[in-house]
Amino acid sequence: MGEVFRGGLDRAPGAAAASEPPALVRSRGRGYHDAWRGSQTRSVIGRPQQMREDYDAIIVGAGIIGACTAYELAKRGWRTLNVERLPAAGYGSTGASCAIIRTHYSTLDGCTMAYEGFHYWTGWAEYIGVDDERGLARFRRTGCLVIKTERNANLVPICHHMDALGIPWHDLTPAQVKERLPYYDLRRFGPPKTPRDPDFARPSGGDIGGAVLFPCAGYVSDPQLATHNVQRAAEGRGAEFVFNEEVVDIARRAGRVRGVTLRSGRRVEAAVVVNVSGPHSFKINRLAGVEDGMNIGTRALRQEVAHVPAPAGYDLERDGLVTSDGDIGCYCRPELGNHILIGSEDPECDEREWVDPDDFSTEFTEQWTTQVMRVAQRIPSLGVPRREKGVVALYDVSDDWIPIYDKSDLDGFYMAVGTSGNQFKNAPVAGAMMARLIEACEGGHDHDADPVTYSLRYLDASVDIGFYSRRRAINEQSSFSVLG
Ligand SMILES: Cc1cc2nc3c(=O)[nH]c(=O)nc-3n(C[C@H](O)[C@H](O)[C@H](O)COP(=O)(O)OP(=O)(O)OC[C@H]3O[C@@H](n4cnc5c(N)ncnc54)[C@H](O)[C@@H]3O)c2cc1C
Repeated sequence: MGEVFRGGLDRAPGAAAASEPPALVRSRGRGYHDAWRGSQTRSVIGRPQQMREDYDAIIVGAGIIGACTAYELAKRGWRTLNVERLPAAGYGSTGASCAIIRTHYSTLDGCTMAYEGFHYWTGWAEYIGVDDERGLARFRRTGCLVIKTERNANLVPICHHMDALGIPWHDLTPAQVKERLPYYDLRRFGPPKTPRDPDFARPSGGDIGGAVLFPCAGYVSDPQLATHNVQRAAEGRGAEFVFNEEVVDIARRAGRVRGVTLRSGRRVEAAVVVNVSGPHSFKINRLAGVEDGMNIGTRALRQEVAHVPAPAGYDLERDGLVTSDGDIGCYCRPELGNHILIGSEDPECDEREWVDPDDFSTEFTEQWTTQVMRVAQRIPSLGVPRREKGVVALYDVSDDWIPIYDKSDLDGFYMAVGTSGNQFKNAPVAGAMMARLIEACEGGHDHDADPVTYSLRYLDASVDIGFYSRRRAINEQSSFSVLG
């Protein structure tokens, strides 16, 4: 029998949280909706929900990117409303996130954005700028150790990107990996296989060829709290949030968005609507009728994250670091209570489970066991616990696993979608970039013809927002996985 637990929460495993985000945790015997229905009355963080009839911008969703978009628009004087169907901010895929912060991506643009994002997390209090009665989320800087494999070309292309951006990295020999992670079995097992394969856990010859340690990396121990922090920051600038309300229609007139209709029947007007609805993104795009104008689509992908005790005799909560191991197809990070979170790197042998975000199973499956057994190859003392713990959640995956931060063919309708399991770290940058894009387009700029650029706050560089266009060709440089 398994145990309900949400990974990524800054508390001991099994301890009750003040505001558990129950929508995506595994919840034996209860459905996706039933899991949170009972908590609606305590959901609005003690504030009455009031709405005006019109806003400058309505943001569909209050995950970390929706909240950051509101914050940045509010800083620029926009009157914003985030509409969230769940009881609080960050209860969707954000709350289930492993919230790993790292700088290495397959593309130079991806690395640029991630390094910029890293600076927001190290300066979180400064970014938020207000008190939150729940305290501030903490970024734990542990570094990230990535195993060299043939598939990642021994990390040579990524280290070139690091050098181009001045991001530090350290080459580790197999002996240095063993020194850092003494409980590791360095034998090669790849390419990753399923446990049904007769060759599973059989070494495939020789040892791994070493690793690269990226020191500008770590994790945020409570992604839901981080989102609450941003909500409070945005509210401090006049932004409004409404919970337990769902956008069920997008009003359009004369080629322009006019507002939204809510499940309660209420209509709210706005000249700008931003789709930041995570795994529901394709549904909101469909409501707006903008899918035909997109070359890149989005879909909801079911994912399980396993939560297991650290190997005996090691304090990973104190000494552990983030690891990414393409040889076994898993990533790991330390978790409170001397535990490890294990996520999948989506190896080719695994079937992808595309689902309807309103109707998917929250039960653990073979995926959970597979991930734990894969890590047990590398950490033989890990064992496979009898009780399953972890999260079942959804990624909002784009066709090339690179997000879409863009306008649409419907004037006033924008989207920050397709975050593909890897954009928590970039949320503050994405929010600022979306605000810049929206202001430019609403000021008459033709972004499709002449892509808007965004000057980064920390790095001496700018981003061509056209890189994230809905009309781009599939980016073949992508890893086509959660690695981005
Ligand atoms: C298991 C898992 C592990 C991850 N690990 C990492 C990681 O280690 N590092 C990293 O950088 N990223 C990671 N990610 C990805 C990261 O969490 C997401 O990219 C990020 O949280 C997306 O934020 P968001 O605000 O766009 O979406 P969400 O958090 O999904 O928010 C969208 C919100 O919109 C709401 N909504 C949907 N439809 C409607 C509607 N019609 N009306 C009103 N509200 C609506 C939803 O309820 C939801 O709360 C992970 C994701 C998952 C699922």
